[in-house]
Amino acid sequence: MESINTLFEKQKNYYKQGKTRSIQHRLDALEKLNDAIKKNEPRIIEALQKDLHKSEFESFMTEVGILYTEIEYVKKHLRKWMKPKRVKTPLTHIGSKSFIHPEPYGVALIIAPWNYPFQLALAPLIGAIAAGNCAIIKPSELTPHTSELIRHMVQETFNPDFLSVVEGGVETSQSLLEKTFDYIFFTGSVPVGKIVMEQAAKHLTPVTLELGGKSPAIVHEDADIKLSAKRIAWGKFINAGQTCVAPDYLYLHESIKEPFLKAFEQAIKELYGKEPLNNTAYTHIVNEKHFNRLTAFLDNGKLRFGGKTDPNKKAIEPTVLTDIKWDDPIMADEIFGPILPVLTFDELPDMIDEITNIPKPLALYLFTENKAVQDKILAEISFGGGCINDTIYHLASPYLPFGGVGNSGMGSYHGKSSFDTFSHHKSVLKQTTRFDIPIRYPNTKNGLKWVRRLLK
Ligand code: NAD
Repeated sequence: MESINTLFEKQKNYYKQGKTRSIQHRLDALEKLNDAIKKNEPRIIEALQKDLHKSEFESFMTEVGILYTEIEYVKKHLRKWMKPKRVKTPLTHIGSKSFIHPEPYGVALIIAPWNYPFQLALAPLIGAIAAGNCAIIKPSELTPHTSELIRHMVQETFNPDFLSVVEGGVETSQSLLEKTFDYIFFTGSVPVGKIVMEQAAKHLTPVTLELGGKSPAIVHEDADIKLSAKRIAWGKFINAGQTCVAPDYLYLHESIKEPFLKAFEQAIKELYGKEPLNNTAYTHIVNEKHFNRLTAFLDNGKLRFGGKTDPNKKAIEPTVLTDIKWDDPIMADEIFGPILPVLTFDELPDMIDEITNIPKPLALYLFTENKAVQDKILAEISFGGGCINDTIYHLASPYLPFGGVGNSGMGSYHGKSSFDTFSHHKSVLKQTTRFDIPIRYPNTKNGLKWVRRLLK
């Protein structure tokens, strides 16, 4: 493997040749990426099984299939997105025309996490390619089989001067961050996001930060109990809760606490059976460090159900803890595991107050049929994105930009938003040479009078 310096310089030179800019190059690269994923599907499923014990069903749905639909969508619309967009011109600029030209940034760096290690490395790459950039991907070292496969797949498919994968851990990531990339797209934790932004600031490199946070699922008194229980259980325990937009904690209206928790227990049994630890469809925890971090929460509040663990498999049952207080350790940071603490509320304003006291979450899920309650929550709580009467589904729509706000991140992607993220939007004014309105020049008679009249 050549050094990071050499690889980076080669990509810079390749980019300068302009090959990545043509529509054909972009479409061909997207097609090649799609074919490479198709060809490697069994190996992807196998790598995810080895790294995270992900089932084929979950792997296809959340790591592979979602990429096919994204590539298809981007290919379909790319020609239109790439066109310079004509915009209005004010009267003061008479004779000229105005355009916005999307142009690639140049060489992009994509740093990925371990929880959806395949999808979160390649979904941003779709945007980078579509916008005409070169890119280096740094997958997570905590999912080594998937990381190795991504490297192999990209190496086999693309000219490394155009797209490359650099494998490694923190040091590799930091060496990459020393280079003057034209764009950095980071997905990961809040503390590392801050480090990435600090490094990027040294070169004034623009960044997208896709981070995490404590995303609430709120169930109001009028919610459809059975359906909300099922949709929250699905969103929380898919990938064993190791999902950036998983419901982190449950906020139940006091009046429906008991019926909801009964329905929730039933929903978990329907999804994962009576023995989730032995269910092949249930994902395990990525490593011992995270397993130990999570099991330390099990004595918080009161165990309502679940709670069994298997250290050999690094698996934790879907678990619900009630009687939780805001100062319990489980409420300090994003949980990122299959343990769901439950808080209750009587009055909406009190609940809103508690949620807005902590950093803005990446997602929020509200279960209610009441339009006034929906409007109130949307107006009063800031969050990256979310759903009313569902969980996680907003993330899978190419029409909805996906990203955080405040501590949960900055910038967004998916669909057109991916193209926009990896493009600089260059404003261009085309002036006429047929005439020259004199009032801007300081030697014009009554110039100031005219300028005052126009600029008011
Ligand atoms: P992480 O921040 O530990 O690591 C992410 C990447 O950064 C890895 O490739 C890692 O090698 C690199 N890295 C780690 N420490 C570094 C350092 N000091 N300097 C430079 N690079 C460094 O995150 P993780 O544990 O892999 O992923 C879990 C986190 O990611 C959770 O907080 C989750 O919410 C978040 N996440 C967010 C999204 C999103 O789309 N918003 C998606 C998935 C995960």
